[in-house]
Amino acid sequence: MSQINFLQKVRIDRAQIDTLFPSLKKRGYSLIGPKISDGAIIYDYLDSIEELPIGWTDEQEAGTYRIKQRGDQALFGYSLGPHSWKKFLFPARKKVWQGQKTSDGNFKTIQEIATQSQRFAFIGVRACELHAIHIQDQVFMNKQYQDAEYTHKRTDNFIVAVNCGQAGKTCFCSSLNTGPKVSQGYDLVLTEIIDDATHYFVVESGSERGLEVLHELSFESVSNSDLEAVERCIENAIGQMSRAIDTTDIKEFLYRNYDNKRWQELEKRCLTCANCTMVCPTCFCSKVEDTTDLTGDYAERWQTWDSCFTMDFSYIHGGSVRVSTQSRYRQWLVHKLASWIDQFGTSGCVGCGRCITWCPVGIDLTEEVKALRLAEWEAINGKS
Ligand code: SF4
Ligand code: SF4
Repeated sequence: MSQINFLQKVRIDRAQIDTLFPSLKKRGYSLIGPKISDGAIIYDYLDSIEELPIGWTDEQEAGTYRIKQRGDQALFGYSLGPHSWKKFLFPARKKVWQGQKTSDGNFKTIQEIATQSQRFAFIGVRACELHAIHIQDQVFMNKQYQDAEYTHKRTDNFIVAVNCGQAGKTCFCSSLNTGPKVSQGYDLVLTEIIDDATHYFVVESGSERGLEVLHELSFESVSNSDLEAVERCIENAIGQMSRAIDTTDIKEFLYRNYDNKRWQELEKRCLTCANCTMVCPTCFCSKVEDTTDLTGDYAERWQTWDSCFTMDFSYIHGGSVRVSTQSRYRQWLVHKLASWIDQFGTSGCVGCGRCITWCPVGIDLTEEVKALRLAEWEAINGKS
């Protein structure tokens, strides 16, 4: 099989995947993908396929995460770790300016901070994560306000996506139609199939440059049983999802429940640690801070991620407007699931489940939405 077309599926042996990395590297991409570090599967720079978490998976529950061996040699046999791709497109901390005081008492820029111009190839991007990237595109690349560095990085960003063959216990993308099947925004999408005798990938290109890379690998035609294996893989992931969000009327429901008594319950449990916003692939808030050296002659300006869970986030003249824990949790949840729709036309949640796994006290937004709905029902109908 020498020539394939756009969106045509082909079969590639596990060994052939090794040639994918050099093929991307020679095009000038920095490769970013999953690797094991500090007991978790994180995203970092990769040099070779061997750095992938081969044979490892993760176990997750509310407030719980651990990795363990799978018993096979799967390359992508885990669900999601604490990192998201925003770490590379929208760094957690970056210097935006530095300056020196001049004899007239003003500051002048002593060094322009160059826009990071790396071309990233992201390896192993899941369906929900692609939706999250597209949500952040709307924030950082809209017509009115553009983040130059983000725009630059996204303009030539090669995406190797992976259909999920297993879901984490905290995943709920199927209830938000954001996964587990990859449907948009990829250059190549892989489905990893492992059975008793074989280990291979079904691969499809989603762009001309994806097709170009695919032509450099050695591939075969797919059979009906390969295509059935892909469907089984995705069905398996859907079947493993035990969580869901009922999005019926969600915006109007949350807007009319500003005084729902369930918010008081969160006052007792939430630590306002901001973990949920740090791990969320769609949260985009940042702050800018200026610092000087002891002489006051040298200054730097840094941009860092911020969170609506901090008191400072809503500080205006005279103090913070969200002093209580419940008001901050409510702000986060209502923005994520309701006012985001008014702002950007989509939900701000893609169902990745990270905020559930990485909340130290196991607060679960799917459970909170259920509890808010029940509390509203009881307020109207009386407690049953
Ligand atoms: S919901 Fe959980 S992760 Fe988020 S701020 Fe509260 S305690 Fe921290
Ligand atoms: S709100 Fe939670 S489940 Fe939704 S996208 Fe953010 S981290 Fe993932």
